[in-house]
Amino acid sequence: MKITEHLKNAKSTLFSFEILPPLKGQSLKELLEGIAPLMDFKPPFVDVTYHREEFIYKKHPNGLLEKISTKKRPGTVGICAAIMNRFQVDAVPHLLCGGFTREETENALIDLNFIGVENVLALRGDAPKTEGRFVPENDGHHFASELVDQIIRMNHGKYLHEETETSFHTDFCVGVAGYPEKHFEAPSMKFDLKYLKEKVEKGAEYIVTQMFFDNEKYFKFVEDVRAAGITVPIIPGIKPITTIGQITMLPRTFFLDLPDALMDELEKCKTNGEVKEVGIEWAIQQCKELVAADAPSLHFYTMSKADATYKIAKEVF
Ligand code: FAD
Repeated sequence: MKITEHLKNAKSTLFSFEILPPLKGQSLKELLEGIAPLMDFKPPFVDVTYHREEFIYKKHPNGLLEKISTKKRPGTVGICAAIMNRFQVDAVPHLLCGGFTREETENALIDLNFIGVENVLALRGDAPKTEGRFVPENDGHHFASELVDQIIRMNHGKYLHEETETSFHTDFCVGVAGYPEKHFEAPSMKFDLKYLKEKVEKGAEYIVTQMFFDNEKYFKFVEDVRAAGITVPIIPGIKPITTIGQITMLPRTFFLDLPDALMDELEKCKTNGEVKEVGIEWAIQQCKELVAADAPSLHFYTMSKADATYKIAKEVF
C-alpha cells in the first residue's frame, strides 16, 4: 500500500523506522531477527537505506592516484523483498541520484516494481567523503527533484528510450527528504524550501525529515513549509543518542544542533550506558510531544539496532 494511504487511514500517529543494509560479508538473518521485536508496534512501512561505497584509489609508482571504484553497496532491493515477505509490511527503498545513470535508475525501478514495492524515498545522496562536492554520474541526476521527475514519468508510462507511452505503468508513491535545520549546502532556509517545493511539484507526496533534537525546530519547519505552499505530510525523523561518540558525530555529520537542556544532561554522563539512558529519555519526551501535535508518523533512525527504539516506542505507542 502507498505511504499516503497508510497516513490517510491512520487514526493516530504511526510508528515507522529505517534500517541499513548489512556490510558486505554479513548476513541478513541477524538484521531481521534484530528488528523483529519492533513489529510489536505495527509499523505499516520500513525504510531501507541505500549507500554508495567510498571511492577506492590506487596509487601509481609516479604518485598519481587513480579512482578505481564507484561501486554501490548491495542489499537494499533484496532486504525490501525479505522484509515484505517476512513481516508483511511495506518496504520503502531509498533511491539515490549519486552513483546511478538514468538508465540504471529506470532498471532499479523496474526491479522494485516487479518485487511489489510501491513506495520509494528519492534522494540525491552525498559526495563520497574523499570528494568535496556531489558529482552525478554521466547522464545521472544532479538533484533529487530530477529523480522524482523520472519516477513520476515512469508512473505515466514514459520510459527513457521509448518514443511512445508503454502500456504498463508503474505507480510509485514518492517521498523526499526535508531538513528542519536546513540542508547544509543551502545558503538559506528560503532557498532550501524553494527546492523542497520543486520536489513536491514534480510529484513527491510526502516528506521525511532529517533527525532533530529540538521539537521547536520541527514545528517551525512545518510552519515554514506550509507558508511556502507545500501541503504534503511531513514525517519527523527521530534518533535517540546512544553513545558518547554520537554527541559530537551527529551534529558534525548531519549539521544539526543539540539543545542546551539535552547537552546539560549528556555532559554529566561518564559511560555509553548513561548516555543511552539520557538519549532514550529525551527521545521519549520528544515523541510524546510530537504525538500530541498529531505528527503523521514517528520515523526512527535505528541504525539497524532495535533496542533503544523499542524502549522509546513502548513508552509512546
Ligand atoms: P536535494 O533535494 O537534491 O537537495 C540537495 C541540495 O541542493 C539542497 O541544499 C537543496 O537546497 C539544493 N538544491 C536542490 N535543487 C536545486 C536546484 N535545482 N538548484 C540549486 N540547488 C538545489 N543518503 C544516502 O546516501 N542514503 C540514504 O539512504 C539516505 N537516506 C536519507 C533519508 C532521509 C530521511 C534524509 C533526510 C536524508 C537521507 N540521506 C541519505 C542523506 C541525503 O542523501 C543527503 O542529505 C543529501 O546531501 C541531500 O539529499 P536530498 O535528497 O535532500 O537532495
